[in-house]
Amino acid sequence: MKTKAAFLKNPEKIEENPLKIIRLELPELKENEVLIKVNACGVCRTDLHVVEGELGKVNDIVPGHEVVGTIEKTGSEVKNQKIGNKVGVAWLYSSCGSCQYCLSGRENLCQNKQFTGFSKNGGYSEYIIADNRFIFNLPVGLKDEEIAPLLCSGAIGYRSFKLANASPGSNIALFGFGGSAHLTLQLAKRFGHKVIIISRDKNHLKLASELGADFTFSPKNGDVYENLKDKDIEAAIIFAPSAIPIMNALKIIKPGGRVVVAGIHVDGEIKIDYDLQLFHEKTLLSVESYTREDMLEYLRLATNLGIKPVYTDIKLEEINAALTDLKNSEVLGVKVIKF
Ligand SMILES: [Zn+2]
Ligand SMILES: [Zn+2]
Repeated sequence: MKTKAAFLKNPEKIEENPLKIIRLELPELKENEVLIKVNACGVCRTDLHVVEGELGKVNDIVPGHEVVGTIEKTGSEVKNQKIGNKVGVAWLYSSCGSCQYCLSGRENLCQNKQFTGFSKNGGYSEYIIADNRFIFNLPVGLKDEEIAPLLCSGAIGYRSFKLANASPGSNIALFGFGGSAHLTLQLAKRFGHKVIIISRDKNHLKLASELGADFTFSPKNGDVYENLKDKDIEAAIIFAPSAIPIMNALKIIKPGGRVVVAGIHVDGEIKIDYDLQLFHEKTLLSVESYTREDMLEYLRLATNLGIKPVYTDIKLEEINAALTDLKNSEVLGVKVIKF
C-alpha cells in the first residue's frame, strides 16, 4: 500500500523547498502497530527545526507530529482499538518501557525513545503507522483541525505551565506568541493568572489581547527589563527559540521565580549574571516533550475549559510555504494540514 506524503531527503533551509510530495510504500504492520488514515496534522516549529537540520542529521523522513486520524487497520496484538476510532499521534512515538525514566513516570526523558516525524515517519502523509501504546483516543465534539495543535503545541505549553508552578492568581509572562503560547495563554487565563505577553510582532500582540492577555509588550518599544521589572512576575515561559528572552526573563522575574524554556532548540548563547539573574532563588529549567499522563490530563482540561487554537487550514502541497511563514513569524495562531 502507498501513501501520498511530504518527504525530506536531506535537511535544507526551508526557502529551498526541501519537502517533496511523493508516493511512499508503507511497511507491513507489526503486532503492536496501527494504520491510521490522517484527517489533520498541525504544523509545529519542531518540524521546521527537523527540516533545517537543527536537531541533528536526519534523512529520508516524513515530518509531522500533531496527527489526528481514524484507525484503518490494527496489528495482531492490538485489542483496545477498533476500525474507525478517532485517535491522535504526537511527538513521542515510543519509549523503551524499562529504563529508570520509563519506570518512574518520566518517559519523556527515556534515552531510547523514538519520535514521530523525526525517527519515524510522521503525519505530513495521508496514512501513518503508529505504536498503539503511544496513541490517544480523542474527545468528540471538537473538529480534527482544532485537536491537532493540542497534541504538541498545546501539550508542551501545558507541561511548561505545570513546571512553572506559579501560585494561584500570580502574574506570568510568556515570551513569543506562536502556536504554543496562544494555547498556553488561554490555559493560564482559565486558571486565573494575569498574563503578560512579550512579542516583537504587532499582529501577534493584537491576537494576544483578543485572547485575554492582561498586558502586552514589544521589545521594539523599549528595554524589556526597564518596562517589566515592576510587574511582579512570578514565572515566565519562553516560547521564542532564542537565548535573549531567556536572559531577559531571568532579570524580570521576582525572587523565588521560575523561568521555563519550552523550546526544543534555542539560538545563541545564554550568559548569566549571577547577582541579577539567578540569585534570590530563581530557577531556570527546560521542558522536554510530555508524558502520556500529561497528554491525557491536558486533553481533558482543554476540552472542559474550551481551549481552542486559532488556525488556518492548508493543503499538504502548501507545506513548504507554511513552514516558511512560520520561520518568518507570519503565522497567526497555527496552520493545520487538512486531508
Ligand atoms: Zn526508557
Ligand atoms: Zn511539536
